[in-house]
Amino acid sequence: METARFWENVAGTTQVRCLLCPHHCLLEENRTGICRVRQNRGGILYAQTYGKIAALAFDPVEKKPLYHFYPGRSILSIGSVGCNLRCIFCQNWHISQVDFQSFPLQDVSGKQLVEMAMNHGSVGIAYTYNEPLISWEFVYDTAFLAREKNLKNVLVTNGYIEREPLRELLPLIDAMNIDLKSMDEVFYQRYCGGKLSPVLATIEMAFNAGVHVEITNLLVPCLNDRLELVEQLVDWVSRLSSSIPLHFSRYFPAYRLDYPPTSLSMLEEAFRVAKGKLHFVYLGNVQDAEKNSTFCPSCGKPVVRRSGYVVDVVGLEGKRCKFCQASLPFYN
Ligand code: SF4
Repeated sequence: METARFWENVAGTTQVRCLLCPHHCLLEENRTGICRVRQNRGGILYAQTYGKIAALAFDPVEKKPLYHFYPGRSILSIGSVGCNLRCIFCQNWHISQVDFQSFPLQDVSGKQLVEMAMNHGSVGIAYTYNEPLISWEFVYDTAFLAREKNLKNVLVTNGYIEREPLRELLPLIDAMNIDLKSMDEVFYQRYCGGKLSPVLATIEMAFNAGVHVEITNLLVPCLNDRLELVEQLVDWVSRLSSSIPLHFSRYFPAYRLDYPPTSLSMLEEAFRVAKGKLHFVYLGNVQDAEKNSTFCPSCGKPVVRRSGYVVDVVGLEGKRCKFCQASLPFYN
């Protein structure tokens, strides 16, 4: 069992305080944190999911979703169990909202993952499916090995982490898709069991560190789909950079929420609002090739066409539009 990083003993007790994420769980002996995976045993915090995975697949990089990062390539994707948020509409609840002991997990080493990625021509390794940052130690060690072999490291995350562990990890990370669930603090507290400001800080830190960042906003009917919230979110992203790709994702009933799926008209409206300020806006979980394709903001011509996971790079030359030579924020 791997000893965790980022925690402290509480003087004169066997309690420990975990400092990995903003919850700062105070744990009695044998208790596990809100994430359900970091546990105090005998006054030491352990990372129970180190080298233990619940899922492994070679996914299209577009599935993360990352639309501007090696379009059309596949990436070895792994996930474990647990999450430090409690979103009532979680679309991955079957692995994120389960106890560590109750789910069959497979042992794997970072070295094996790196070999697997290299043998299959993968662009790298994506830490995804559940919340990867609660497995910080395994992500760090694996990402270190992957970087040595020139593989890319991708995080698909809720962004709910303290600054110090994030600062330490970012130099190993090439791309992130970060959930920005809403600009409403009450929404984060009431429906997700977290706070908004640490997520904004994560996005800013990652972007400023030179990591390729894309943002996903799951629009949940009646909970976070008010147009004023969409406008606030778009404003905030555009202040950081109008070139950050923003994915509005369609909600489907899951976990504890049984509302009808997000209406297509709402998604279209969000798309329209966002396109007023951002160059690259996409609609996820929707069959709409036009709103999943990339058009050059300078000349308007299509540079990457996407239909489902069929990707056709039609107008990219490196990081430039092949029609007008405008510089485009792509990694390929
Ligand atoms: S990582 Fe887990 S144990 Fe640590 S503070 Fe966050 S929820 Fe609590």
